[in-house]
Amino acid sequence: MNSPNPHRKGNKPWNYFPESKTKGCPKCGRTLPFSAFAKSSSAKTGLQTTCRECISKHQRAYRIANLQARREIEAKHRAKNIVPDKWRFCRQRAQKKRIPICTLSEFVAWHEKQPLQCVYCGMSESRSVLQFGRRLHIDRREGNLGYLINNIQLACHRCNVTKNKYITHEQMHEIARNYFRD
Ligand SMILES: [Zn+2]
Ligand SMILES: [Zn+2]
Repeated sequence: MNSPNPHRKGNKPWNYFPESKTKGCPKCGRTLPFSAFAKSSSAKTGLQTTCRECISKHQRAYRIANLQARREIEAKHRAKNIVPDKWRFCRQRAQKKRIPICTLSEFVAWHEKQPLQCVYCGMSESRSVLQFGRRLHIDRREGNLGYLINNIQLACHRCNVTKNKYITHEQMHEIARNYFRD
């Protein structure tokens, strides 16, 4: 059997990578032992051009940038669909109860400025989705007033349901403070 030609592309034999040999990494400029490079069957040298450390740094930076991009897409999606859906839901209730409601654009502008957490217990929207399978509700601070900018607030399902129409805004703050803060 012919012994494999080390200059040929493809997998190199195990003894082709002695620990004593070194190679330069063009990215960080260091000269490093072969073990600092991942193997590559497509490279002539049998090793990746850049060192493992540079590759993992690059991947981390890529993941972070990717996460950032995904968050921005999610924010746009929220502005485009989720928030108007919340408004439409409120409008249905407002029509049923014959109470006034702000305009959609007022609502979107208001929502954008809100921290996404329950005004009473502080639960975040993502946690509310996990725990109750529901996004934060649009709660009316004063139950006898409409869905107007100075009367609406974000509340989790638990606080919203607890408050209902019998408990005042101040009483609900006290209940959440005493029983719902985790
Ligand atoms: Zn490097
Ligand atoms: Zn709450």
